[in-house]
Amino acid sequence: MRAYSQRARRQGKTIGFVPTMGYLHEGHLSLVRSSKKECDVTIVSIFVNPAQFGPKEDFKNYPRDMRKDKKLLKKEKPDVIFAPSRGEMYPDKFDTYVEVGGSVTKTLCAVSRANHFKGVATVVAKLFNIIMPDKAYFGQKDAQQTIVIKKMLCDLNMNVILRVMPIIREKDGLARSSRNIYLSQTQRKEAVLLFKSLKIAQELIKHGAREAAYIKQEMKKILKKGKDIKIDYIEIAGGEDLNPLKKVKDNTLIALACFVGKTRLIDNVVIDKVNGDI
Ligand code: AMP
Repeated sequence: MRAYSQRARRQGKTIGFVPTMGYLHEGHLSLVRSSKKECDVTIVSIFVNPAQFGPKEDFKNYPRDMRKDKKLLKKEKPDVIFAPSRGEMYPDKFDTYVEVGGSVTKTLCAVSRANHFKGVATVVAKLFNIIMPDKAYFGQKDAQQTIVIKKMLCDLNMNVILRVMPIIREKDGLARSSRNIYLSQTQRKEAVLLFKSLKIAQELIKHGAREAAYIKQEMKKILKKGKDIKIDYIEIAGGEDLNPLKKVKDNTLIALACFVGKTRLIDNVVIDKVNGDI
């Protein structure tokens, strides 16, 4: 992989990189398309990273289908699919991790997923070192992840441009996710309430609401309609530092994580300007 990237770079080509855990859907494919548009060479990685799963999480059951992934990617024509084995990425005696500090790894998903971002930062740093991309493409779906990676790039002087692309959704608004496959039919119907609660928050803010506690309360009311929904968190936080806010301001992230049955789903919206057009 490194030899391929070095050759491309010697030829003056720009390298775009799309890291994924496979079981690809339109969200992933949109990242591949963006990279293809902006870079000479596009590399997609498929690696279910054990380091970012907790001991009670779904690493073992995480959906995998390399044949289908390859078929989907054939249409998008990335230049390389990089799918290392677990042993190649984490050989025996692997002992070095990247731990991003500060507020961005203290809130939201970090609360219920201890060590998750340590696993993410470590694997992304490794993949960047192997692939040496000019630009890396991440989805806004994992908002906190993009902010953690941004901080890692900055703190460790890594020479990669981060491109954050919009959330791709199903027709009814549910954010596309590899984990949606876990949902039963009734759970799938209820799962749309995550998006609906975010929409309500957006609407309330458009019409003048600013108090985070009030907005969260209204979001909760929507989510409570789902019999199978258990809220992990609803947070209204600063879009840069992810510190919880009492009042919505410009660049506010409204993010949530819910269990729908046993499946943990996340979603978010960003309020760029609180006094935007109504
Ligand atoms: P994953 O395979 O879940 O690790 O995701 C790989 C990349 O795809 C991450 O940067 C995700 O944020 C991005 N991604 C996942 N779902 C979506 C989506 N619905 N829309 C846009 N990007 C997504």
